Amino acid sequence: MKKRIVVFPGDGIGPEVVGQAKKVLVRAAEMGSLALDVQEFPIGGASIDIFGVPLKEEYLKVAKRADAVLLGAVGGPKWDVVEPSIRPEQALLALRKGLKTYANLRPARPYSALLKASTLKEEVVKDVDILVVRELTGGIYFGRPRGIKDGKKGYNTLVYDRKEIERIARKAFDLAMLRKKHVTSVDKANILETSMLWREVVKEVAAGYPAIRLDHMYVDNCAMQIIRSPGQFDVILTDNMFGDILSDEASMLTGSLGMLPSASIGDKKGLFEPIHGSAPDIAGKGIANPIATIASVAMMLEYSFSRVDLSALIEEAIQEVLQDGLRTKDIDDGSGDVVSTERMGEEIVKRFEHRASQRGIGNVGKTK
Ligand code: NAD
Repeated sequence: MKKRIVVFPGDGIGPEVVGQAKKVLVRAAEMGSLALDVQEFPIGGASIDIFGVPLKEEYLKVAKRADAVLLGAVGGPKWDVVEPSIRPEQALLALRKGLKTYANLRPARPYSALLKASTLKEEVVKDVDILVVRELTGGIYFGRPRGIKDGKKGYNTLVYDRKEIERIARKAFDLAMLRKKHVTSVDKANILETSMLWREVVKEVAAGYPAIRLDHMYVDNCAMQIIRSPGQFDVILTDNMFGDILSDEASMLTGSLGMLPSASIGDKKGLFEPIHGSAPDIAGKGIANPIATIASVAMMLEYSFSRVDLSALIEEAIQEVLQDGLRTKDIDDGSGDVVSTERMGEEIVKRFEHRASQRGIGNVGKTK
């Protein structure tokens, strides 16, 4: 049966990077005999321009029926003036909530060829392999009441219930079991009641995973430790807002926001997107780094379709282009050739094809 994939390219560099990621996805599917049905819809500012809303209800419904969703990025200065409730970013929240993708997985693992592109010393980042597991559908980004009162007072609400904490903790522990079996739960339990409950529930869940080493860390300390000695972390488990900030920080260990993929998963659905935004400063120039989005496709193949064979080949193809000295501008360390978004995508496809045929993966089926 065909796997239904919905693609939302979005705004700014979104369509540029998604264009390359789609090439990789389609080729991987063809060679790996994975039948796909791919549909594409506008989201964010692009959707506001056409329909006046950041995400049409009808497209959200199609996304809910799909097996996986690939997203570029949304937003940009053009839409900064629109009313907050229909800003482009609201589409992301609606999608995450609608798909019930409550766990956001953000790996931060520097590519060896790029160690010099990190702003940190090579010896600090070389062995880093962090998976940030961020709660995605609760916390302060969704809490009510929220608003701005009479232009004088802005307020948001931070709420977590036991069930929300329990299911994200379980996800983090399950993933840690496949890794180094170490979870650092990050909170602000010295100040926030939600964090006190968070800590209590995480401890309870941990009791069912005796093989896991669990630490608790305050978020301010964690922000410092990620820079000071990132090698100490395996899985970082944290809430929505802390995870948003810490995963961007962790991304800098790898040299550029343009390198980091993410998977948002629930019990059934998966939403895959780079962690970066729409980068309006470089949109339309053909210089955006498509690797984060291509690596998000690799995560889709692994988490939604259990095709670790194909996702590993994509990862290898990315490693190889970097080792061969190909760089987009954001990761230019002076050691290789600076190439366009499109060329980077094409070179990754070529190396994927080569590796796939070497391993005997090469049945050419047609996708729609
Ligand atoms: P950003 O991630 O778009 O850009 C930050 C910096 O990183 C910029 O200098 C940009 O050029 C660079 N950068 C990001 N991705 C890159 C890539 N693939 N290749 C090369 N360089 C890259 O963050 P921002 O500037 O804070 O936000 C811009 C817009 O994106 C805003 O409207 C914001 O709301 C939106 N945004 C959307 C998402 C999303 O769709 N998931 C996430 C974050 C920000």
